[in-house]
Amino acid sequence: MNKTEHQPLLVSRWDDALAATLSAEQLLVYRSNLLGGDKRITNFGGGNTSSKIEMPDPLTGEKKSVLWVKGSGGDIGSIKLDGFATLYMDRLLALQGLYKGAAHEDEVVGLYPHCTFNLNPRAASIDTPLHGLVDRPHVDHVHPDAIIAIAASADSRALTREIFGESLGWLPWRRPGFELALELQRFARENPEARGVVLEAHGLFTWGNTQKECYETTLDVINRASTYLAAKSEGKPAFGGEAVAAAPAARRGAVAAGLMPAIRGLISRSGSRKIGHFDDSPAVLEFVNSAELRRLAALGTSCPDHFLRTKITPLVLDFDPATQEVADILPALPGALANYAAGYGAYYERCKRPDSPAMRDANPVVYLIPGIGMLTFAADKATARIAGEFYLNAINVMRGACAVSSYRGLPEQDAFDIEYWLLEEAKLQRMPKPKALAGKIALITGGAGGIGMATARRLLKDGACVVLCDIDKAVLETARAQLAGEFSADHVRAVWGDVTSEAAMVAAFTQTALQYGGVDICICNAGIASASALEETSLAMWQRNMDILATGYFLTAREGFRLMKSQQLDGSIVMVGSKNALVASPGAAAYCSAKAAELHLARCLALEGAPFGIRANVVNPDAVLRGSRIWQGEWGDQRAASYNKGSLDELEAVYRERSLLKRSVYPEDIAEAVAFFASDISAKSTGNIINVDAGNANAFTR
Ligand code: NAD
Repeated sequence: MNKTEHQPLLVSRWDDALAATLSAEQLLVYRSNLLGGDKRITNFGGGNTSSKIEMPDPLTGEKKSVLWVKGSGGDIGSIKLDGFATLYMDRLLALQGLYKGAAHEDEVVGLYPHCTFNLNPRAASIDTPLHGLVDRPHVDHVHPDAIIAIAASADSRALTREIFGESLGWLPWRRPGFELALELQRFARENPEARGVVLEAHGLFTWGNTQKECYETTLDVINRASTYLAAKSEGKPAFGGEAVAAAPAARRGAVAAGLMPAIRGLISRSGSRKIGHFDDSPAVLEFVNSAELRRLAALGTSCPDHFLRTKITPLVLDFDPATQEVADILPALPGALANYAAGYGAYYERCKRPDSPAMRDANPVVYLIPGIGMLTFAADKATARIAGEFYLNAINVMRGACAVSSYRGLPEQDAFDIEYWLLEEAKLQRMPKPKALAGKIALITGGAGGIGMATARRLLKDGACVVLCDIDKAVLETARAQLAGEFSADHVRAVWGDVTSEAAMVAAFTQTALQYGGVDICICNAGIASASALEETSLAMWQRNMDILATGYFLTAREGFRLMKSQQLDGSIVMVGSKNALVASPGAAAYCSAKAAELHLARCLALEGAPFGIRANVVNPDAVLRGSRIWQGEWGDQRAASYNKGSLDELEAVYRERSLLKRSVYPEDIAEAVAFFASDISAKSTGNIINVDAGNANAFTR
């Protein structure tokens, strides 16, 4: 089945009534958001928009023509006014007089800040002159798959002419910059009727006299290309037809979850940890299952935006879903990765220039597995997900190009010159330093509870990806949504599960592997509290404490330990114990005994984990009333009654006064200690305990 022909055509979403209420610069934001809000028009972060707007000079009040153009970074789908750079048009045009030719075009970039209007701090992007030098009031530059399919075809110029006639021009591949801007300017001047240009192997430029005309021209051009591609591909099997049948969905997930930790381990061992993403959507499966998979994958991606994110080529893994299991591919993985890295190193050596930046990570970003789908790995989840989206763009481009012509990747020297462009390198150098737990994956049982949520928040703040696991479905979803809102949806997942169930814990870690690629931090925390004198303690109550606190911690830790080992990376297991693990309390034999079992389990794990760099430590809270759901139920009422107190606040005061430091303990205090053991700051501690109880002499460790 061909996916391109099923794409519905774009429909204008321009609202005249709304537009009438907006200023010129607000209209530019509106137009940009409409364009960027549809992935058929442009990929995430791809493309830019501009308007030339008359504005009073802040010093002289004189009317000036100002170029508002999307600045460096960001995405037009969500851009706001502050995402645009603003430049005096007369100054920008004057740069033509200073321009020394193609060999020096990068030098012009240093002059853009001198053109800044109104002290706007937003940096101008490399594409700025492409907008400024075209004598049209409004300009769109987008990367639609349908247009790139034409632009990346062997006979892209003839196709452009066939589809668009005189209305659209065509310019041969050239890296974006001042030289391309001059070519674009020349074209627009010589072809006053043209509505835009297809840039070979790159994307689309369109323009208009009004914001609405510009927007609707972009849509119309994309629709014409889509219609043409759909007609040409009608009835033709994409990519030479299916060579391998897709495995059933559950098996695809299981194979991916089995492979991801092994790949993650191999590509993270020598540097920072990577986060994975899995995609087995129909369009991906059509490509990875096709007869042409290997030939096309080797040609590489085309649009610069694509390969900057995906690397020029993916790694295709040998796998026959009909006869093989995960265990059959694992032995071949190190060799496949070493081959890829050697190939990447050779590409670097062949193409490098005297001033090229040092070679970057030589591991693949995109992994294609016949019958199963696509994996992508990057420094964080959003980057891995977006790399996958970009490869999907590349698949769409290849599908379209193959239907109408033959697909052509960018020549490797041109690709290299983009990948190792000094201006791209400068952009990378400007990126903020990664946070302490960036690239780390944590699973927290009881993650929807008081201490669990506080811990999740603390780890998320340091950049970790967090999987919340809890038995309470409703509270779990609320917790996930809340944390996703506070941090990012990419960084938080929720898996429902009962820690007393072996199958549920296996499933929770399988999901974690599938969602992120593995696990580095395992926090055993799901718990309850109970109190009753020994003689009144029923077997059921004893068993419940043992099941959740002892067995639950064992099952969680064992599955976490197994997953950590399968990555061959070090890891940290943290058990949220209790002061009662060290101090016997009257009337709580079941709880205290189960908590003591957790403590000793951690020590045993510390022994067995050490040879693999897997650490196990314990944080012992005491009397964390605020935020804890344990204290909101029967347990809290019982404790309050036993101290003759009517409210939790009064009860909290009792515990505070009982402590050596006379301070209340909060979930955030526990989270701080857990974060210490979770991170590399405590790399030399295992089998250890931190009490977070505001001081309790009976709980002093020795
Ligand atoms: P909480 O009730 O707010 O959170 C515990 C979470 O565990 C809840 O969301 C609950 O739904 C979940 N849970 C319970 N049984 C589960 C099961 N079988 N499977 C999966 N999830 C399950 O309590 P909290 O105060 O955040 O407690 C967290 C841990 O801290 C517990 O192990 C508790 O024993 C320990 N602790 C708490 C205190 C305190 O004063 N709050 C003191 C010492 C120890």
